[in-house]
Amino acid sequence: MILMEFAMIGAGAMGLRYGILLQEAGNDVTFIDTWEPHIDKIRDQGGVYVSRDHQNRHLTPIKLETPESYSGDPDMFIFFTKQMQLQDYLDRCAHFFNDHSYAFTAMNGMGHIEKLQRYFADDKIIAGTALIATVLNGPGDVDFMGKRGAGKMNMANFTEQPDEMTHRLFDELEKAQMHPTLTTNFKGTLMTKVIFNSVINTLCTMFEIQMGELGNFPKAYDLGRQLIDEAYDICERAGIQLVSTREEEMTALDINTRIDMPLHYPSMYQDMIHDRPTEVDYINGYIADLGRQYHYEAKTHRFLTNLVHLAEYHRANEKAAHEAASIQAATSTAS
Ligand code: NAD
Repeated sequence: MILMEFAMIGAGAMGLRYGILLQEAGNDVTFIDTWEPHIDKIRDQGGVYVSRDHQNRHLTPIKLETPESYSGDPDMFIFFTKQMQLQDYLDRCAHFFNDHSYAFTAMNGMGHIEKLQRYFADDKIIAGTALIATVLNGPGDVDFMGKRGAGKMNMANFTEQPDEMTHRLFDELEKAQMHPTLTTNFKGTLMTKVIFNSVINTLCTMFEIQMGELGNFPKAYDLGRQLIDEAYDICERAGIQLVSTREEEMTALDINTRIDMPLHYPSMYQDMIHDRPTEVDYINGYIADLGRQYHYEAKTHRFLTNLVHLAEYHRANEKAAHEAASIQAATSTAS
């Protein structure tokens, strides 16, 4: 029996994780992607290679379309793009959205909801957060980190009023062992995770370190506390009711880095090492911009946003210098 029909917009690390687990739970899932080397590889090999914690690599067949080739009308679209890719995906997919389409996402950062609102009615937007780590090793090859059933997620309706479709989605996520928690605090749920990421993702990415190295650093508490305090001060001014207290957030940072995932690199790090832009403007940058709206200057978040951009800039310069040196070496060998 087909339980629900999903279209995953973005078949990267998280789109594949959610989509394949929903497919294995009996749902009808189609993946929609635009990255050509990935699409070509999946078609050539007849699916996606899936591993769990680098083990048991096996081929999983999937249905894959591009925005231009897809014409379905699923129960739910699930968005897992990077924040800066979302608008392009929405533009290319707009032809198959309609007024009864539902959208769910658990992307990191903030900025995506306003974009989704231009295509989906408020009462059909469900968003959440995922404490689930996944790595796309390369085209057609994904690694689900953590044991089956590890990780958890939160979800909330934009209207804060769960409807029948919300409960159907919740049930399917539960069967897929995503461990969802349904809340009725939309902005607070999302912002609590943005703040969490503004410490771990940003610091680990900037120094290219595993989460355990941050957690075990003797001054980790001080670093986290400064960022947490700034962000919580801003949310208080903005009237956002976060889902954990400052102390609970500090404890969650400590447990997540030192105990739960010490060997993991956060997803932002994957972008940095692959010379892709990071989502820092939608995380620390978003917090700093929100502060300005309430006459609060989030100096630490602004400074960190600029430092991550400096790290991106440095890597781009190094890459360009390396490529120029390789071309020069090849030219002198040839002559
Ligand atoms: P991803 O980069 O793996 O995939 C997103 C899109 O980028 C897909 O369309 C994919 O095909 C494409 N892509 C991947 N590598 C590319 C490359 N080298 N060049 C061009 N295109 C490429 O992103 P993700 O990790 O699935 O993240 C989606 C959202 O979920 C983000 O907001 C992220 O912060 C969030 N998130 C990720 C994780 C994680 O562990 N990966 C955990 C929680 C939340």
